[in-house]
Amino acid sequence: MFPFHGIDFLEIDSLLSDEEKLVRQTVREFVNREVIPHIEEWNREGRFPQHLVQPMGELGLFGANLQGYGCAGMSNVQYGLIMQELERGDSSLRSFASVQGALVMYPIAAYGSDEQKERWLPPLQQGKAVGCFGLTEPDFGSNPAAMRTRAARDGSDYILNGEKAWITSGSIADVALVWAQAEDGIRGFLVEKGTPGFSAKDIKGKWSLRASVTSILSFQDARIPSRNALPEARGLKAPLSCLTQARYGIGWGVLGAAMACYNEALEYAKIRKQFDEKPIASHQLVQETLVEMITEITKAQLLALHVGRLKDQGRADFAHISMLKRNNVKMALDVARSARDILGANGVADEYPIFRHMCNLESVYTYEGTHNIHTLIIGERVTGLAAYE
Ligand SMILES: Cc1cc2nc3c(=O)[nH]c(=O)nc-3n(C[C@H](O)[C@H](O)[C@H](O)COP(=O)(O)OP(=O)(O)OC[C@H]3O[C@@H](n4cnc5c(N)ncnc54)[C@H](O)[C@@H]3O)c2cc1C
Repeated sequence: MFPFHGIDFLEIDSLLSDEEKLVRQTVREFVNREVIPHIEEWNREGRFPQHLVQPMGELGLFGANLQGYGCAGMSNVQYGLIMQELERGDSSLRSFASVQGALVMYPIAAYGSDEQKERWLPPLQQGKAVGCFGLTEPDFGSNPAAMRTRAARDGSDYILNGEKAWITSGSIADVALVWAQAEDGIRGFLVEKGTPGFSAKDIKGKWSLRASVTSILSFQDARIPSRNALPEARGLKAPLSCLTQARYGIGWGVLGAAMACYNEALEYAKIRKQFDEKPIASHQLVQETLVEMITEITKAQLLALHVGRLKDQGRADFAHISMLKRNNVKMALDVARSARDILGANGVADEYPIFRHMCNLESVYTYEGTHNIHTLIIGERVTGLAAYE
């Protein structure tokens, strides 16, 4: 892997404050030191680096854009830069941080009781507890409204039955935020590890996000006290609002994966020689590929920064964030595929980070709203007509 010094063709750094650059630099150094030297091994073994969770918590990386309960209270641009640097290491780490912060801490902060906030936010922020978010089911991904998981009232408790699939951090989570159909609509429940009737089993054989834990959660008459239901979360709008937070982080995160791939391809092209001992970077077609890559990365950086500034002003809505997620994930996947091509056969070897990023991005293209679903969200915004069914 070649050293990385940042990618900034259009002096976008001049739009960042010193504080924002400092946050980026701190996480960049953490990733260079703790992740880059080991990630290929973790990826090969299909192992999540759980020992990094507490150090990440100490750096303030979980729920960094939330206020109170020990959270760093950073701006959304600072938060985005954290996600970018984590995903430059690997999408698995960024996925972990997205779930922990945007999909578990955010809903507890937004919809939880004071007791739930006090119980869970400090340990989740510090990385002393792990959370997961269960929305998807084996038969319902893009259409979670049709979920089958049920929460039936029984005295002062709820009885949970159903199954959640493809759940990041599922089997290592101390608390699962599970969305279920109750008598009064979709509700969120904090299900603690060890609850009788609740079990988690890992999904094996993934070619993508191999350094991330992905699990199936099963609920068979799991008794959940009503104090574990999020009091303010009613209807599908609540989990969708969490997805908006996570999608925002993804829009930034994938920039990191794209920059890593571009950096690798550029440095490789400058030293790889073919035909009369000329570096492949001197050939016009290779230059065109590199130019396409840096142009798309630069446009995506500007999109992320603009949406981040809008979010800091309270003006970014879910459709803006859909555009960010949709554009930047597709951009990163295209950049990874181009970088793979530039490395020729070496592009498929895990001595280089490209194929790993490319495989990871295939999941990122699908989760948190597939590319198609974001097309439909933006399509509905611009036409006023919904085309989901
Ligand atoms: C590694 C990984 C981690 C994940 N982590 C989590 C997690 O932590 N928590 C969680 O709840 N979920 C998680 N997911 C699940 C993820 O959110 C879903 O996979 C995603 O929502 C898509 O659902 P699906 O896989 O059922 O695909 P489907 O919904 O079956 O879609 C299949 C294809 O059909 C297309 N499609 C579907 N409906 C339409 C339509 N109306 N119009 C046009 N095209 C359509 C889709 O775009 C896609 O191309 C994870 C997934 C992966 C791969």
